[in-house]
Amino acid sequence: MSNIIRALSSRDLLFSFICGLLLLVNRVVTWTAGPVPGIDLLLAGSYFFGGYYTAIEVVRSLRDREFNIDLLMLIAAIGAAIIGAYAEGALLLFLFSLGGALEHQAMDRARSAISSLSELAPETAHRLDNENGDVTDVPVEELVKGDRVLVKPGERFPADGYVLKGQSAVNQAPITGESIPVDKAPVDPKKLIADSEVASFPEHVIFAGSINGDGSVEMVVTGAASDSTLARVIRLINEAEKQKSPTQRFATSFEKWFVPAVLIFVTLISFAFLVLDEAFSTSFYRAMTVLVGASPCALAISTPSAILSGIARSAKLGILIKGGGPLEEMGLVKAIAFDKTGTLTEGRPRITDVISLNGSGEDNMLRIAAAAEKLSDHPIANAIVRDALARLGSEKLPEGSSAESVQGKGLKALVDGRITEIGKAGLFDNSIPESLINSDRELMEKGRTTVVVRYDGEYLGLIGLMDVSRPGSKSAIQKLRALGISRLVMLTGDNQTVADAIARETGLDEAVGDLLPEDKLDYLKKMVKEYAHVAMIGDGVNDAPALAGASVGIAMGAAGSDVALETADVALMADDINKLPTAIALSRSTRRIIKQNIFISLGMIAFLVPAALFGFATMGIAVFLHEGSTLTVVLNALRLLGWKEQV
Ligand code: ADP
Ligand code: MG
Repeated sequence: MSNIIRALSSRDLLFSFICGLLLLVNRVVTWTAGPVPGIDLLLAGSYFFGGYYTAIEVVRSLRDREFNIDLLMLIAAIGAAIIGAYAEGALLLFLFSLGGALEHQAMDRARSAISSLSELAPETAHRLDNENGDVTDVPVEELVKGDRVLVKPGERFPADGYVLKGQSAVNQAPITGESIPVDKAPVDPKKLIADSEVASFPEHVIFAGSINGDGSVEMVVTGAASDSTLARVIRLINEAEKQKSPTQRFATSFEKWFVPAVLIFVTLISFAFLVLDEAFSTSFYRAMTVLVGASPCALAISTPSAILSGIARSAKLGILIKGGGPLEEMGLVKAIAFDKTGTLTEGRPRITDVISLNGSGEDNMLRIAAAAEKLSDHPIANAIVRDALARLGSEKLPEGSSAESVQGKGLKALVDGRITEIGKAGLFDNSIPESLINSDRELMEKGRTTVVVRYDGEYLGLIGLMDVSRPGSKSAIQKLRALGISRLVMLTGDNQTVADAIARETGLDEAVGDLLPEDKLDYLKKMVKEYAHVAMIGDGVNDAPALAGASVGIAMGAAGSDVALETADVALMADDINKLPTAIALSRSTRRIIKQNIFISLGMIAFLVPAALFGFATMGIAVFLHEGSTLTVVLNALRLLGWKEQV
């Protein structure tokens, strides 16, 4: 009951009900008591309430010099009145306004699935004022970077940041779609993590809107609430909703000529009485019925409703899709290119081998390498810094400066004012000593990523690193195969041996190593030429150009990275590659529903126009079936809100 009251509080639905009620009273009185003076006033009222919103819509679109569907309906209703078919005209307005109002309600449901995201962040936060644990409750808008906030068990986190004290299992499903809570622990102050890096540590990072488990947690805020990952996602989804997909653009351009064509055709057949032996009113009635049957209301709503529902559903699964274009494109994907580091692998290599060339010593080499790599944010650089510091203890590193990354090869920097180069063998000219080349080859054969260190023109040695494949990669690849995606390729700048090793472990059929970023892009272009619909998945930071070169660029683990969130076409919020098959399956379901909807809407037009022409359908029936098909396509689209993966 309360549902009906709430629904009626929306004015379009209320007006539609009044329209229907007046029509009903008029009919009942006329049938029982015959013509009562003044009873037609009820129909006039019915016209008013039923036509009110349609007329407003028509005036607005005519001002923009557009013919829309509402115009067709208004013409049909006025036409019915002209030939004295008041009751049928009122019925048309009633069903049309009812259909429109229900359609709004349905679309609002899909939209509220999106806007409910923004209700996830709490309105106030318990800000810690001092070391004594005094707390003030403040509105989240007042939180600034560096604030410390207490979050009690079961509460929602008010801002992005990291854990300073306390441990808890945090449910971040609202942001990343991960169903299992993630254990969080305090940042070790000795670990030297910069604010910008926190996001790459899932055990410390906090996203606004996620729900605290059993432990009380003290967190440090790293950004304003309006700038949180959640806030960004909401902004991006709202943008996405406005982006038209190819099918939508097609439907819009179809309507552009279809609506005037219908008007011309209907005008012509309203003069049928000149040719056929019938009264003008008969011809006109038939024309108005055709007009109703030919109105592409259902067509207009078939794609947007499906896209809206698809985007809303995927957002709940931690998949941010930037509009109907990427959504439809993802459903078409035939081939996928994968980045290696951080996508198929953990992206957190460890140092496994340290080989010093001559007497200079391993620690000395690590010290110099770490000093330089501190200036880079490449996964290899992070690994070298972290592992070197662990080994050297709290020893102070030399001074590094003016770092310059050589894309896909390594890094050049000054350490204590001397030129320091770190990178794969290809970074150096052919001057690497024989023995170093041999050790390098040996390490690579063991599946290691290797970097050579040269300091002030002298080769210091070699560092071997190992990054393990993600536990989920293999099953994700299997699911993608099961979805019928025939070509799955890994593209990496790492050496071919490592590339092959990871490919074997994850079950990929192809791996291409030693690629520079521009080579990756070239390779991708070739794939696009061959398969037309190619996805590239990477971390969205190192691989931005390649992502942009694919038909659809997908970033993984985007919750922690603003760049990835903004640049990718599709962002998987969680660092979970198994969301990729999910995203593709959902896109395909969306495309299937769009196709069904277009079939239903065009099918109804194809049925109703001849039926009206040859007199099988009265205007009442035409209106009823017409509105029925419109509601059917919207409800069909809403099925996506409850979409579940079938694996
Ligand atoms: P990926 O395809 O794994 O993203 P990149 O193109 O980022 O690889 O890097 C390719 C190779 O270049 C790495 O495997 C490494 O050998 C070398 N390299 C890149 N950046 C650095 C760095 N900062 N320090 C050392 N080596 C690096
Ligand atoms: Mg990379």
